[in-house]
Amino acid sequence: MPIRNASNGWNLLGVTNPRDMTYIHSYGGEAVFFESLSKGRLMATRCDNPKCETKGSIYQPFRIYCPDCLRKNTVIDMTDIAKKTAKVHTFMVCERSGAFNILPRPIKFINVEFEGVVTILMGYLALGEPAIGMRITPIFKKLQPTYTILDLSWVPEGTKAEDLPEGFSF
Ligand SMILES: [Zn+2]
Repeated sequence: MPIRNASNGWNLLGVTNPRDMTYIHSYGGEAVFFESLSKGRLMATRCDNPKCETKGSIYQPFRIYCPDCLRKNTVIDMTDIAKKTAKVHTFMVCERSGAFNILPRPIKFINVEFEGVVTILMGYLALGEPAIGMRITPIFKKLQPTYTILDLSWVPEGTKAEDLPEGFSF
């Protein structure tokens, strides 16, 4: 495609050449988190350092290192905690989104709290309307996973398997 100068008689300035780029994004210590989503498991981390004042704290989102003692955390499977205790802490419904959004609008962003977990996880509600305190359950994109956070979503407790979005299951 030619590039022309609109303010100077449409003189030729140059041409465009399309390029396609693959960005290699290394997950490092978080790889286990994304791999597990594709298998229907939600991994968290826990500080097990006996000298740490906050020993036993469970972190979701997944934190490789303890923010208090800076020692490497232990990876734990918290899928059952999420299934039994996940609740909407708060939420916001967005009618407009940023560029490159691929989630259906309006997007129901939710902050998810869990019993025994010291942090709050950001996510989105795939079905239904969010409410503060509402019990929710995780769903996982096990069919053709993307190995990104988009493989995890949430639905109201009691949602039937046949109502889940394509590719997702409990
Ligand atoms: Zn610690």
